[in-house]
Amino acid sequence: MKKIIYFILTVTIPFNYLLAWGNEGHMLIARKAVDFLPEEMAYFKQWASYIEIHSVDPDNRKSSDKSEGHKHYIDIDFYKEFNRGEMIYNLEELKKAYNDSIVNEMGVLPWATAETYKNLVLAFKEKNRDKFLIYASDLAHYVADGHQPMHSVINYDGQMTSQKGLHSRYEIHMVNKYLEELDKSFYSQEPYYVSDPLSFVFYYITNSNLLSCIVFDADNLAFSETGLRETDDYYRILWFRTRYITVLQVNSAANDLASMIYSAWLDAGKPNLKDL
Ligand SMILES: [Zn+2]
Repeated sequence: MKKIIYFILTVTIPFNYLLAWGNEGHMLIARKAVDFLPEEMAYFKQWASYIEIHSVDPDNRKSSDKSEGHKHYIDIDFYKEFNRGEMIYNLEELKKAYNDSIVNEMGVLPWATAETYKNLVLAFKEKNRDKFLIYASDLAHYVADGHQPMHSVINYDGQMTSQKGLHSRYEIHMVNKYLEELDKSFYSQEPYYVSDPLSFVFYYITNSNLLSCIVFDADNLAFSETGLRETDDYYRILWFRTRYITVLQVNSAANDLASMIYSAWLDAGKPNLKDL
C-alpha cells in the first residue's frame, strides 16, 4: 500500500505546473460570465476587464504560495467512495478517512471554490470593492478549472496510459488553436440561485470527470490516425472529437460562474454596489 501511495504522490506533484484552459481560455470564460449576469447586476460589467485580467492570478500565485497548486484540481477518481457513487463532500470527514497529506495531494478544488464563494459573500456584504473584485476573479478561475475534464482525474496528463502531455495538448495548444471558434460558441442562460455551493461544485466536477474519457479516446484516435502528436492533423482530429464537449464545458463554466456570482450577491442581501 505504501508503495502505491508513494507512486501516486510522485506522479501527482507536477500537476502544480499545469494550467487549466490556459490564460486565453480562462479570460474568455471570465469575460463571458460577467456578460451573462442578470439585468439587476448590469453595473458589474464596469469591472469586466478587471475580472478577465485577474482570472489568471491564481495560476500565477502557485510559484510564491506552496498551498495554491492543490486548489486547482481534484483527482476525484482516486477515492473509492467516488467510484462507488458515495463521494464524501465534507473535507474533515474525508481527511479522517484518508489523511491530510493524501487529501491535499489529490487536490482540494471543491473546497477552495466554496471558500472563495464564502469570502465573496462577505466582501459583498462589506461593500468592499477591492476584496469582491479579487474574490470574483479567483472564483472565475476555480470554477473554470472545475470544468476542465483533465482537472478531475488521477490520470490528469495521460501519464498512466502512455498519453503523456495530453493535459496541455488539450487545454492550451488545442484551445488556443480553436479559440475563435470557441469564442463564437457561447450562449447565455438565465443565472439562477445556487443554494448549496459545495454540492454544486461537486456536481459539475463529477460531470468533468465523466467527460475525461472522451478526451482520452480522442487523443488515442488522433494519434492512431496520424502517427504523431502535436501536428496540425493531430489537433484537427482532437478538436473534431472533443469540440462538442469542450464547447459545452466552457459554456457551462461561464454560466455556472455567472450563477455563483449572482448567488453570492443574493446571499449578501443584494447590496447596492453601483457607486463604489
Ligand atoms: Zn488553475
